[in-house]
Amino acid sequence: MNLPRLRAIRSVIAIGLCLSLSSPADASASAYGMLGSPGDGGIGDPYFPKHGNGGYDVLSYDIAARFNPANERLTGTTTVRFRATQRLTVFNLDLVLRASAVSVDGRSARFIQGGHEMHIRPATAIAKGAIVKVRVRYGGVPEDVSHLGVRPWVTTGDGAVAVGQPEIAAWWFPSNDHPSDKARFNIVLSVPAGKQAISNGAYLGRTTANGWSTFRWRLSEPAAPYLVFAAFGDYEIERGETASGRPYLYAFSEHLGPVSRPARRSLRFTAEATEFLERQFGPYPFRWIGGVAPAEGLGFALENQTRPVYSPLFFTTGPHRGVVIHEMAHQWFGDAIAVRRWQYIWLNEGFATYAEWLYTPVQYGGPTPQQQLMELYDGIGARDPFWDLRIGDPGPDNLFDRAVYDRGAMTLQALRNRVGTGDFFTIARAWVHDNADGLGSTREFRRLSERISGEDLEAFFDAWLFTASKPARTTDNGL
Ligand SMILES: [Zn+2]
Repeated sequence: MNLPRLRAIRSVIAIGLCLSLSSPADASASAYGMLGSPGDGGIGDPYFPKHGNGGYDVLSYDIAARFNPANERLTGTTTVRFRATQRLTVFNLDLVLRASAVSVDGRSARFIQGGHEMHIRPATAIAKGAIVKVRVRYGGVPEDVSHLGVRPWVTTGDGAVAVGQPEIAAWWFPSNDHPSDKARFNIVLSVPAGKQAISNGAYLGRTTANGWSTFRWRLSEPAAPYLVFAAFGDYEIERGETASGRPYLYAFSEHLGPVSRPARRSLRFTAEATEFLERQFGPYPFRWIGGVAPAEGLGFALENQTRPVYSPLFFTTGPHRGVVIHEMAHQWFGDAIAVRRWQYIWLNEGFATYAEWLYTPVQYGGPTPQQQLMELYDGIGARDPFWDLRIGDPGPDNLFDRAVYDRGAMTLQALRNRVGTGDFFTIARAWVHDNADGLGSTREFRRLSERISGEDLEAFFDAWLFTASKPARTTDNGL
């Protein structure tokens, strides 16, 4: 996630406010949930108690959704294939659109919906370890649906984009909506003929029949539901292979106007950005690269897996390589390794900001990461509220506070000073490439750093992440 500096302050505030509202429990305490062995209505993330669900692990999603920009209506059928991690008489999915039919392994299932949650009671209990297919038919006008003040769906004039963090999935498909349950995705999107529908991963082609065009996409590497996106509208598509044989796909809105040229130049930089980042952090974790620049409406850029989506606001003053570096760095930090809990957001934003710092000297001979660290450290007085935020546990209202980004990157440069450049990049690479389940926490990052460096880093991370004051200027703090 990245926001155009200054221009998007209002969106930051809006996002912050919205997030704080999404924690109270839904009104509908499950009418089914008291009997038998129900899966939990949340996955256990204290920042967002209703996000995700307990009792199962999703293996794959097959999403088929049709969006009509004329009436902004989306209808869909999604099949969620999961493995039960306990016996289930009842389980939940996250969906705010209205469902019309649900089946489990082909047998019709009872369900009720309330707020963010869908409670499903299969005809027979699901045994622990069993793999089942849950098919949900649903529809609605996502733009009109607000849940506890959150309404992440964005209308763009020529269509819409489903892009959001920490949540968007519930506005267009039922899911276990939490980064700690990654899965594979097949995405089939239909729009009126003449429009385009873009999503993540491999482009498998399009067909047109009865006035509708259908576009097929596949994410074969597991992804968190919030990183899966859809863009519907008038797009020009550019696709091919880079010199090194990597498939790319860029999509530019036909309505970008004067921003069109700098947007194109920026997104086409993605291939070079990926190679730069590979030299820092090891092999790109996915196969496809790309980017999407929709028409106005979106106020931020997001690291959607394999294909970030960029607000045109980034390109109003010319090409913007920094934001491409940032979103592509998230492919390593945030996508390949996702946060186990939203509390660990600094691991995403700190690394993405640090990647920008690494690129600045290459781009225009600008300040080195060490100079950036010291400019911020010396420039922000000890009494400045910047130091008040404990970025290791910022709270759901402050996930995207500037301190999470800047103090996060400062922490990494300070770590590099503390353990040495060699160990630092060994840690960064191992963090992404040695993580079998693709999830991480601050504690796991500290342990990895300690194992590779052979140093006790508890006091170091305490000072940088968990103390509401400016770290003292000591060698131990990497200063
Ligand atoms: Zn970001």
